[in-house]
Parts: sequence; structure tokens; C-alpha cells
Amino acid sequence: MNRRKLLKQLGFGLSGGLLMPHLLSSCGKDDPGPEVPYDGNVVVIGAGASGLYAADILKAKGIQVSILEAGNQIGGRVKSLRNQKDLVNISAADFPVELGAEVVYGSDSIWGTNLKNFKVNTLDIGSISTDRYIMDSVSKTRDDWQIDGDFANAQSFVDGLPDFSGSGTVAQASAGLSNRVKALVNSQIGNLYGTSNEKLGIAGVAEALKARIYDNQKLVLKTNPMQDFLIFRFDQVRELVQLNTQVTAIDATGEKIIITDANGGQIEATKVIVTVPLSILKKNVISFNPGLPSAMTSSMSRIGMDHSIRVVMDFKKNFWGASTGFLWGGTSFPNCYSAGVGRGEFNQTLSITINGPKAVELSALGADMINVILAELDSIYGGQATQFVRRDLDTGNVLFIIQDWGKEEFIQGGYSYPMATATLADRENLGLPIGEKIFFAGEATDISGSAGTLNGALASGERVAEQLIKTITG
Ligand SMILES: Cc1cc2nc3c(=O)[nH]c(=O)nc-3n(C[C@H](O)[C@H](O)[C@H](O)COP(=O)(O)OP(=O)(O)OC[C@H]3O[C@@H](n4cnc5c(N)ncnc54)[C@H](O)[C@@H]3O)c2cc1C
Repeated sequence: MNRRKLLKQLGFGLSGGLLMPHLLSSCGKDDPGPEVPYDGNVVVIGAGASGLYAADILKAKGIQVSILEAGNQIGGRVKSLRNQKDLVNISAADFPVELGAEVVYGSDSIWGTNLKNFKVNTLDIGSISTDRYIMDSVSKTRDDWQIDGDFANAQSFVDGLPDFSGSGTVAQASAGLSNRVKALVNSQIGNLYGTSNEKLGIAGVAEALKARIYDNQKLVLKTNPMQDFLIFRFDQVRELVQLNTQVTAIDATGEKIIITDANGGQIEATKVIVTVPLSILKKNVISFNPGLPSAMTSSMSRIGMDHSIRVVMDFKKNFWGASTGFLWGGTSFPNCYSAGVGRGEFNQTLSITINGPKAVELSALGADMINVILAELDSIYGGQATQFVRRDLDTGNVLFIIQDWGKEEFIQGGYSYPMATATLADRENLGLPIGEKIFFAGEATDISGSAGTLNGALASGERVAEQLIKTITG
């Protein structure tokens, strides 16, 4: 029996969060099942998607749970700006601006199903827009480029990724492609999966893509900020979150586990679930006693988490095409989404994600990274980026939003990716518990093929709740 079926049978993954009065009708089938008698308490570290979901499941099973979050908000790498409140004077966007997770992969994936169950308005990006591809500083649709042999070869390499059977990095595997398509393929693969083609392991990506079982739809929320929906979905555990509490040590050598925070405060627990980003574990921000299992630390050296930046800019004219969805192939804007398409009256906003070494380079420039991005856009669109970028009316300064995830103290990067020799077994090792006391979740520990995404984070939350409950029920 697969894990999801088992969870369904046990009644997990079906939280009290679904039992909101006005939503009961859509969730009648989601009975959380029998309670699990347990007189201990569980502390979850991190209030991102994985921690919230794990806590939600445990609470629904009647287990005493609390959540410690280092930051001052719930959501982790799900972070949104709301148009009326946060965006005044920065962006004219009449839709939510996402600073982290923006696209929901699969309409029948974990998060896609949640959106459906809660009747959240979504747009299927593929059916409302057309992607454009940049080569030789020219942007065209796939159909328009397809007669170009170099482009066609590049796209068959990208499309064939799930079936790729070789090893090494994506750069090595794609060495035979023309130099004309290198930036394009880097944006479609290396950057998309959290780094660059030079650092991304092709076998790990192929293995993950094969393991995914949901459809190929890519959804965005039409009007709701992603962070608001996440908080709403896990409303039942919201009150259990203690913000501004950075955990620095977890000692499980005594009868009770002692959790120490950065202010010297101590909290006791009988079981702990750690959901902090992989980068935080790699940098030993939290000391563990007993230490992390050696299989885990060994696998950590094969899974990376690089720098990541989200940049959002408005323009007074949509010069990249009103029906454009993603724009692939930029060097300083490798993942560029026309965020207003299909959902904004002012469809004039670009939402850019830069990962890996390029993000490190741009991050070092601080706000000057905007000039680099505008210059590259200018070279493709005949100077229109600088001409039409939205500026402050008084000062003439360019208006923009930079969310530098690599510089966020409690995140320190974007999302995890496999290096050249990594396999899904490494991700399984990242989720190995320490005894029956300390458990690990978070997107990097996902083994369902969705690591690096919201679906992966949620799947890991389900997995860890199941793992922990089994140590109680035997
Ligand atoms: C720029 C960007 C774009 C993305 N785009 C997409 C997308 O389009 N679609 C998609 O599906 N996914 C996307 N992702 C990935 C997605 O956001 C993550 O996979 C997911 O949100 C991770 O959830 P998590 O619970 O594993 O970790 P997090 O959300 O990082 O939660 C971990 C929490 O632990 C807290 N923490 C850290 N250290 C401590 C400590 N010492 N003590 C206590 N708390 C601590 C952190 O503050 C954080 O809140 C994107 C990510 C980024 C950065």
C-alpha cells in the first residue's frame, strides 16, 4: 500500500483545519479518524508549510503540539504582499505579489487538491498564456522558434529530462547543445530546480520527475495571496505558533527533550519535529545532542541549497507581450513570469526568480541588480525596459521589490536540489529520525518527487506525522 493510501486509511492528512463550518460540505469525507492517546507533547520547529501540516495532523489526532518559529510571520518560504496594504507606492499590481512560492504544480497534487477543496480561484497558466523563449537576444514563442535546429534540440533535451538515464551535471549532459541555447536551457532546468546547470545533478532531477504522479497543470491563485491561503488552511494550529523563537539547541539525552532558543529560553518536549530549511541544518545553526545520523550528514553533502532572489517590477507598458506567461532564457532574469496575465487589469508586472551562482552575483550588487536586469531586457526589447519601468513620480527612481532569500537569516537560500551524485535515497536519509525522539521534515526531505516545492514540503509534513504517530501506536 502506498504512503498516501495508508495515511488516508489511518485518517491522517485530513485535519481539523478542514472542519470550518462553511466548508464542511466540501470536506465531509475527510474525517480525521480516531484520536491517538498520548500523554507527551510534540514541539514542531518551523512554521512553514511542512511544519504547519505536521502540527495540523497531530492536533487532529488529539496530540498536544506547539510550534516554534524563528521569524515574525507564519509561512516560511510562502510570503505574499497584499495589494491594498503592502504594495502602496511600490507596485501597481492589482493581484497578490508573491515573494516565494508562486506556482502550484499539478491540479491534483496535495496543494492543488487543497485549492480545489476550498474552492480557491485559480488560473491554469498554460491555458491562459503562451511562454516565450529568448535566443540571440530575440524573444519568440516555441512555435515560431521550432524551425531553428538548435532550439528544437534544446527543447527535446528539456522535454526528455524525466527519461534521461545518464549521470553527472545537467551542463555535462547538455554539452552537445549549441552555445546559442545555453542560457535558455539553464533557465529552463538549472535555475528552475534551484541552482545552475553546472551544479544540478541530472539523475536526481530525472528520478524526481519520474516519481511525480500529478498532472502537468501549473496554477496561480487568481485573487488570494498564497500566504493567506496557507494560514487559512492551517487555521487550527495558528494559535499554537510561537513567533520570534529561534531554536539553537535540541538535547534529547535526558528523559525529556530540552529545546533551547536564542534568548536562552528552554522548552520541554517528549518528541520534536524539525522542519527548518536544509541550509540551516547544514550551517549547524541548531546543535543536536545526540548528533545528526551519519547517513544524514553524508547525504547533506549531496543535496544543495543555493542563493535565491525574487525581484518584482512594474512597467507602464507591457512590451513583452500581453499573452506571455513565462519568459525563458534571460541570464539575469532566468525565470521571468508575467504575473498579471489573466488576473490583473494592469498586466504590466514581471516576477523574476534568480537561483544559484547568478543570484550570489546579483545579491552582491544589492539594489544595483535592477540596472543589470533592465539592461538585459533593454537589449532584447530595444530600450523599452528602461523607458517604461515604473518610477517614483517625485524622485524618478525606479520602483522595485527585491526579496533576497539568501540573506534571510532563518532561510539562507532558495530550495534544495540534487548535486551530481544525489539520488532520492539521499532525501530519505535527510528525513531519518534520531531515535524515536527527533524527527525531520521540510521540502528537502521529500521523496515523492516534489522536493523544492510546496507539494514536497506538505508531503514531508504528512510523512513525518505518520512516522511520529507510529512510534506512539507501535
Ligand atoms: C524564490 C522562491 C520561489 C519559489 N517558487 C515556488 C513555486 O513557484 N512553487 C512551489 O511549489 N514552490 C516554490 N518554492 C519553494 C517553496 O516555497 C518551499 O519548498 C516551501 O515553502 C518550503 O516549506 P518548508 O516548510 O519545507 O520550509 P520553510 O517554508 O522554509 O519553513 C521552515 C521555517 O523554519 C523557520 N526556521 C528556520 N530556522 C529556525 C530555527 N532555528 N528555529 C525556529 N524556526 C526556524 C523558518 O523561519 C521557516 O519559517 C519557492 C521558493 C523560493 C525561495
